[in-house]
Amino acid sequence: MKQIIIAQHYGFCMGVKRAIAIAEETAGSNGSVTILNEIVHNEAIVEKFRREGVGQSFSLEDVKEGTLIISAHGASPEVFRKAEERGLKVVDATCPLVIRIHKIVKKLAENGYHVLHLGDDKHDETIGIMGHAPDKVTVIPTLDALEALGPIDGKLAMTSQTTARVSDFVEVERRAKEKYPQIEIFNTICNATNQRQAAIMDLAPKVDMMLVVGSESSANSKRLAQISKAICGIAYLINSPDDIRSGWFEYSDKKIDVVGLSAGASTPDFLIDGAIAKLQEIGGGEVEVVYPEKRMAKNRLALADDDD
Ligand code: SF4
Repeated sequence: MKQIIIAQHYGFCMGVKRAIAIAEETAGSNGSVTILNEIVHNEAIVEKFRREGVGQSFSLEDVKEGTLIISAHGASPEVFRKAEERGLKVVDATCPLVIRIHKIVKKLAENGYHVLHLGDDKHDETIGIMGHAPDKVTVIPTLDALEALGPIDGKLAMTSQTTARVSDFVEVERRAKEKYPQIEIFNTICNATNQRQAAIMDLAPKVDMMLVVGSESSANSKRLAQISKAICGIAYLINSPDDIRSGWFEYSDKKIDVVGLSAGASTPDFLIDGAIAKLQEIGGGEVEVVYPEKRMAKNRLALADDDD
Protein backbone atom coordinates (compact mmCIF):
# COMPACT_ATOMS: atom_id res chain seq x y z
CA MET A 1 0.00 0.00 0.00
CA LYS A 2 1.44 3.33 -1.04
CA GLN A 3 -1.24 5.87 -0.37
CA ILE A 4 -4.36 6.59 1.69
CA ILE A 5 -6.69 9.23 0.26
CA ILE A 6 -9.22 10.78 2.62
CA ALA A 7 -12.63 11.70 1.19
CA GLN A 8 -13.39 15.39 0.71
CA HIS A 9 -16.26 15.21 3.24
CA TYR A 10 -16.35 12.65 6.04
CA GLY A 11 -17.06 12.18 9.71
CA PHE A 12 -19.09 14.21 12.20
CA CYS A 13 -21.90 16.38 10.82
CA MET A 14 -23.46 19.42 12.43
CA GLY A 15 -26.43 17.50 13.91
CA VAL A 16 -24.24 14.85 15.52
CA LYS A 17 -21.82 17.38 17.03
CA ARG A 18 -24.77 19.33 18.39
CA ALA A 19 -26.47 16.26 19.90
CA ILE A 20 -23.25 15.12 21.60
CA ALA A 21 -22.64 18.61 22.99
CA ILE A 22 -26.20 18.76 24.37
CA ALA A 23 -25.85 15.29 25.93
CA GLU A 24 -22.46 16.18 27.46
CA GLU A 25 -23.83 19.36 28.97
CA THR A 26 -26.91 17.57 30.31
CA ALA A 27 -24.82 14.70 31.70
CA GLY A 28 -22.94 17.24 33.80
CA SER A 29 -26.13 18.34 35.55
CA ASN A 30 -27.42 16.87 38.82
CA GLY A 31 -29.68 13.86 38.97
CA SER A 32 -30.27 10.89 36.75
CA VAL A 33 -29.97 11.37 33.00
CA THR A 34 -31.19 8.86 30.42
CA ILE A 35 -30.81 8.95 26.65
CA LEU A 36 -33.76 7.49 24.76
CA ASN A 37 -32.36 5.13 22.10
CA GLU A 38 -28.80 5.90 20.91
CA ILE A 39 -27.78 9.56 21.06
CA VAL A 40 -26.19 9.00 17.63
CA HIS A 41 -25.66 5.70 15.87
CA ASN A 42 -22.06 5.03 16.81
CA GLU A 43 -20.97 2.36 19.29
CA ALA A 44 -17.96 4.31 20.61
CA ILE A 45 -20.08 7.38 21.38
CA VAL A 46 -22.85 5.31 22.98
CA GLU A 47 -20.23 3.52 25.11
CA LYS A 48 -18.61 6.83 26.13
CA PHE A 49 -21.87 8.06 27.64
CA ARG A 50 -22.46 4.69 29.34
CA ARG A 51 -19.01 4.90 30.94
CA GLU A 52 -19.81 8.39 32.17
CA GLY A 53 -22.87 7.05 33.98
CA VAL A 54 -25.53 8.31 31.57
CA GLY A 55 -28.42 5.86 31.31
CA GLN A 56 -29.72 4.56 28.03
CA SER A 57 -33.14 3.11 27.36
CA PHE A 58 -34.96 1.90 24.29
CA SER A 59 -38.29 2.17 26.07
CA LEU A 60 -39.76 5.28 27.66
CA GLU A 61 -41.67 3.04 30.09
CA ASP A 62 -38.36 2.02 31.70
CA VAL A 63 -37.36 5.61 32.54
CA LYS A 64 -38.66 6.33 36.02
CA GLU A 65 -37.20 9.72 36.88
CA GLY A 66 -34.81 12.53 36.07
CA THR A 67 -33.93 13.93 32.68
CA LEU A 68 -34.66 12.29 29.34
CA ILE A 69 -32.56 13.22 26.30
CA ILE A 70 -34.16 12.83 22.89
CA SER A 71 -31.52 11.65 20.39
CA ALA A 72 -30.37 13.39 17.19
CA HIS A 73 -32.87 11.28 15.26
CA GLY A 74 -35.84 12.84 17.04
CA ALA A 75 -39.05 11.32 18.39
CA SER A 76 -42.79 11.60 17.93
CA PRO A 77 -44.84 14.21 19.82
CA GLU A 78 -46.38 11.33 21.78
CA VAL A 79 -42.99 10.52 23.30
CA PHE A 80 -42.59 14.13 24.48
CA ARG A 81 -46.13 14.13 25.88
CA LYS A 82 -45.75 10.82 27.72
CA ALA A 83 -42.35 11.83 29.12
CA GLU A 84 -43.80 15.03 30.53
CA GLU A 85 -46.78 13.13 31.97
CA ARG A 86 -44.30 10.89 33.77
CA GLY A 87 -42.68 13.96 35.31
CA LEU A 88 -39.47 13.70 33.32
CA LYS A 89 -37.51 16.75 32.29
CA VAL A 90 -37.05 16.50 28.51
CA VAL A 91 -33.91 17.77 26.75
CA ASP A 92 -34.29 17.72 22.98
CA ALA A 93 -31.12 16.95 20.97
CA THR A 94 -33.02 16.35 17.71
CA CYS A 95 -31.05 17.57 14.68
CA PRO A 96 -32.64 20.77 13.29
CA LEU A 97 -32.75 19.12 9.85
CA VAL A 98 -34.90 16.31 11.24
CA ILE A 99 -37.14 18.87 12.95
CA ARG A 100 -37.50 20.52 9.53
CA ILE A 101 -38.98 17.26 8.17
CA HIS A 102 -41.34 17.03 11.17
CA LYS A 103 -42.63 20.50 10.30
CA ILE A 104 -42.98 19.74 6.58
CA VAL A 105 -44.87 16.49 7.19
CA LYS A 106 -47.13 18.04 9.84
CA LYS A 107 -48.01 20.98 7.61
CA LEU A 108 -48.68 18.72 4.61
CA ALA A 109 -50.99 16.53 6.71
CA GLU A 110 -52.83 19.59 8.03
CA ASN A 111 -53.35 20.71 4.45
CA GLY A 112 -54.91 17.42 3.40
CA TYR A 113 -51.90 15.69 1.85
CA HIS A 114 -50.89 12.10 2.22
CA VAL A 115 -47.10 11.67 2.39
CA LEU A 116 -44.97 8.92 0.89
CA HIS A 117 -41.76 8.84 2.90
CA LEU A 118 -38.68 7.13 1.46
CA GLY A 119 -36.99 5.59 4.49
CA ASP A 120 -36.38 2.64 6.75
CA ASP A 121 -39.57 2.05 8.73
CA LYS A 122 -37.59 0.69 11.72
CA HIS A 123 -35.24 3.67 11.99
CA ASP A 124 -35.75 6.06 14.93
CA GLU A 125 -35.90 9.04 12.56
CA THR A 126 -38.69 7.51 10.47
CA ILE A 127 -40.68 6.46 13.54
CA GLY A 128 -40.47 10.02 14.87
CA ILE A 129 -41.53 11.50 11.53
CA MET A 130 -44.53 9.16 11.27
CA GLY A 131 -45.60 10.24 14.74
CA HIS A 132 -45.95 13.84 13.56
CA ALA A 133 -48.74 12.91 11.16
CA PRO A 134 -50.26 9.59 12.26
CA ASP A 135 -52.10 7.74 9.46
CA LYS A 136 -50.99 10.36 6.94
CA VAL A 137 -47.55 8.91 6.18
CA THR A 138 -46.82 5.74 4.21
CA VAL A 139 -43.20 4.61 4.47
CA ILE A 140 -41.70 3.27 1.25
CA PRO A 141 -38.33 1.67 2.05
CA THR A 142 -37.63 0.79 -1.60
CA LEU A 143 -38.76 1.31 -5.18
CA ASP A 144 -40.55 -2.06 -4.96
CA ALA A 145 -42.62 -0.75 -2.06
CA LEU A 146 -43.68 2.17 -4.24
CA GLU A 147 -44.56 -0.19 -7.08
CA ALA A 148 -46.72 -2.25 -4.72
CA LEU A 149 -48.91 0.72 -3.81
CA GLY A 150 -52.35 0.96 -5.39
CA PRO A 151 -54.00 4.08 -6.82
CA ILE A 152 -53.93 7.16 -4.58
CA ASP A 153 -56.31 10.03 -5.29
CA GLY A 154 -56.04 13.50 -3.85
CA LYS A 155 -53.14 15.54 -2.59
CA LEU A 156 -49.90 13.59 -2.35
CA ALA A 157 -46.34 14.48 -1.40
CA MET A 158 -43.02 12.69 -1.05
CA THR A 159 -40.26 13.20 1.52
CA SER A 160 -37.23 11.13 2.49
CA GLN A 161 -35.02 10.07 5.37
CA THR A 162 -32.18 12.56 5.81
CA THR A 163 -29.66 9.79 5.10
CA ALA A 164 -31.29 8.18 2.04
CA ARG A 165 -29.11 7.26 -0.91
CA VAL A 166 -29.34 10.14 -3.36
CA SER A 167 -29.58 7.86 -6.41
CA ASP A 168 -32.44 5.90 -4.76
CA PHE A 169 -34.30 9.15 -4.13
CA VAL A 170 -33.90 10.19 -7.78
CA GLU A 171 -35.20 6.83 -9.00
CA VAL A 172 -38.16 6.73 -6.62
CA GLU A 173 -38.99 10.36 -7.39
CA ARG A 174 -39.03 9.63 -11.14
CA ARG A 175 -41.30 6.61 -10.74
CA ALA A 176 -43.56 8.34 -8.21
CA LYS A 177 -44.13 11.21 -10.66
CA GLU A 178 -45.06 8.71 -13.40
CA LYS A 179 -47.39 6.79 -11.13
CA TYR A 180 -48.93 9.75 -9.31
CA PRO A 181 -48.69 12.85 -11.52
CA GLN A 182 -50.14 15.04 -8.76
CA ILE A 183 -47.30 14.24 -6.32
CA GLU A 184 -45.28 17.11 -4.84
CA ILE A 185 -41.66 16.30 -4.05
CA PHE A 186 -39.71 17.47 -0.99
CA ASN A 187 -36.11 16.34 -1.13
CA THR A 188 -35.25 16.18 2.56
CA ILE A 189 -31.91 14.39 2.29
CA CYS A 190 -29.61 16.53 4.42
CA ASN A 191 -26.60 18.42 3.15
CA ALA A 192 -24.12 16.32 5.13
CA THR A 193 -25.46 13.15 3.48
CA ASN A 194 -25.34 14.72 0.02
CA GLN A 195 -21.76 15.84 0.51
CA ARG A 196 -20.46 12.57 1.96
CA GLN A 197 -22.08 10.51 -0.81
CA ALA A 198 -20.78 12.86 -3.52
CA ALA A 199 -17.28 12.66 -2.00
CA ILE A 200 -17.41 8.83 -2.14
CA MET A 201 -18.52 8.93 -5.78
CA ASP A 202 -15.55 11.14 -6.55
CA LEU A 203 -13.00 9.09 -4.60
CA ALA A 204 -14.07 5.44 -5.08
CA PRO A 205 -13.18 5.24 -8.81
CA LYS A 206 -9.63 6.45 -8.05
CA VAL A 207 -8.66 3.86 -5.43
CA ASP A 208 -8.11 0.09 -5.15
CA MET A 209 -10.04 -0.36 -1.91
CA MET A 210 -12.49 1.79 0.06
CA LEU A 211 -12.85 1.75 3.84
CA VAL A 212 -15.73 3.47 5.61
CA VAL A 213 -15.47 3.93 9.37
CA GLY A 214 -18.86 3.68 11.02
CA SER A 215 -21.18 1.42 12.98
CA GLU A 216 -23.57 -1.13 11.49
CA SER A 217 -26.39 0.79 13.18
CA SER A 218 -25.50 3.96 11.24
CA ALA A 219 -27.71 4.25 8.16
CA ASN A 220 -25.52 6.86 6.50
CA SER A 221 -22.29 4.87 7.12
CA LYS A 222 -23.81 1.73 5.62
CA ARG A 223 -24.96 3.74 2.62
CA LEU A 224 -21.42 5.10 2.08
CA ALA A 225 -20.05 1.53 2.20
CA GLN A 226 -22.69 0.30 -0.29
CA ILE A 227 -21.89 3.10 -2.73
CA SER A 228 -18.15 2.44 -2.29
CA LYS A 229 -18.60 -1.26 -3.03
CA ALA A 230 -20.72 -0.58 -6.11
CA ILE A 231 -18.08 1.74 -7.57
CA CYS A 232 -14.76 0.41 -6.30
CA GLY A 233 -15.54 -3.31 -6.03
CA ILE A 234 -13.64 -3.77 -2.76
CA ALA A 235 -15.07 -1.90 0.21
CA TYR A 236 -15.44 -2.54 3.94
CA LEU A 237 -17.50 -0.91 6.66
CA ILE A 238 -15.37 -0.97 9.81
CA ASN A 239 -16.62 -0.22 13.29
CA SER A 240 -13.12 0.44 14.63
CA PRO A 241 -9.46 0.27 13.50
CA ASP A 242 -9.26 -3.23 15.03
CA ASP A 243 -11.57 -4.50 12.29
CA ILE A 244 -8.97 -3.80 9.58
CA ARG A 245 -7.38 -7.12 8.53
CA SER A 246 -3.91 -7.35 6.97
CA GLY A 247 -5.27 -10.31 4.97
CA TRP A 248 -7.41 -7.89 2.96
CA PHE A 249 -4.17 -6.61 1.42
CA GLU A 250 -2.18 -9.84 1.32
CA TYR A 251 -4.79 -12.08 -0.27
CA SER A 252 -6.66 -9.64 -2.47
CA ASP A 253 -6.95 -10.58 -6.17
CA LYS A 254 -6.20 -6.96 -6.93
CA LYS A 255 -2.97 -5.21 -5.87
CA ILE A 256 -3.94 -2.65 -3.25
CA ASP A 257 -1.75 0.42 -3.71
CA VAL A 258 -4.27 3.13 -2.89
CA VAL A 259 -6.91 3.00 -0.17
CA GLY A 260 -9.77 5.51 0.02
CA LEU A 261 -11.02 6.36 3.49
CA SER A 262 -14.29 7.91 4.57
CA ALA A 263 -16.46 7.89 7.69
CA GLY A 264 -20.13 8.21 8.51
CA ALA A 265 -21.63 11.36 9.99
CA SER A 266 -21.64 9.85 13.49
CA THR A 267 -18.02 8.60 13.48
CA PRO A 268 -15.67 10.37 15.92
CA ASP A 269 -12.27 11.61 14.72
CA PHE A 270 -10.28 9.31 17.00
CA LEU A 271 -11.62 6.26 15.13
CA ILE A 272 -10.70 7.82 11.78
CA ASP A 273 -7.22 8.67 13.04
CA GLY A 274 -6.92 5.13 14.44
CA ALA A 275 -7.86 3.67 11.04
CA ILE A 276 -5.19 5.79 9.34
CA ALA A 277 -2.58 4.64 11.89
CA LYS A 278 -3.56 0.97 11.44
CA LEU A 279 -3.35 1.27 7.66
CA GLN A 280 0.09 2.88 7.96
CA GLU A 281 1.20 0.03 10.23
CA ILE A 282 -0.01 -2.56 7.72
CA GLY A 283 1.68 -0.63 4.92
CA GLY A 284 4.99 -0.60 6.81
CA GLY A 285 5.02 3.09 7.73
CA GLU A 286 5.82 4.30 4.19
CA VAL A 287 2.27 5.21 3.37
CA GLU A 288 1.44 8.74 2.24
CA VAL A 289 -1.78 10.19 3.62
CA VAL A 290 -3.54 12.60 1.26
CA TYR A 291 -5.99 14.81 3.09
CA PRO A 292 -8.58 16.90 1.26
CA GLU A 293 -7.01 20.07 -0.06
CA LYS A 294 -8.54 22.41 2.46
CA ARG A 295 -7.66 20.27 5.46
CA MET A 296 -4.04 20.10 6.54
CA ALA A 297 -3.14 16.98 8.47
CA LYS A 298 -1.91 18.75 11.54
CA ASN A 299 -4.91 20.96 12.13
CA ARG A 300 -7.57 18.71 10.70
CA LEU A 301 -9.36 18.19 14.00
CA ALA A 302 -9.49 21.88 14.73
CA LEU A 303 -11.05 23.04 11.51
CA ALA A 304 -14.43 24.66 11.76
CA ASP A 305 -17.53 23.24 10.11
CA ASP A 306 -17.96 24.67 6.70
CA ASP A 307 -19.86 21.91 5.04
CA ASP A 308 -22.97 21.14 6.97
S1 SF4 B 1 -26.85 13.22 9.13
FE1 SF4 B 1 -27.94 15.11 8.56
S2 SF4 B 1 -29.94 14.96 9.60
FE2 SF4 B 1 -28.60 13.41 10.55
S3 SF4 B 1 -27.73 14.47 12.32
FE3 SF4 B 1 -26.31 14.80 10.62
S4 SF4 B 1 -26.91 16.78 9.69
FE4 SF4 B 1 -28.61 16.07 10.98
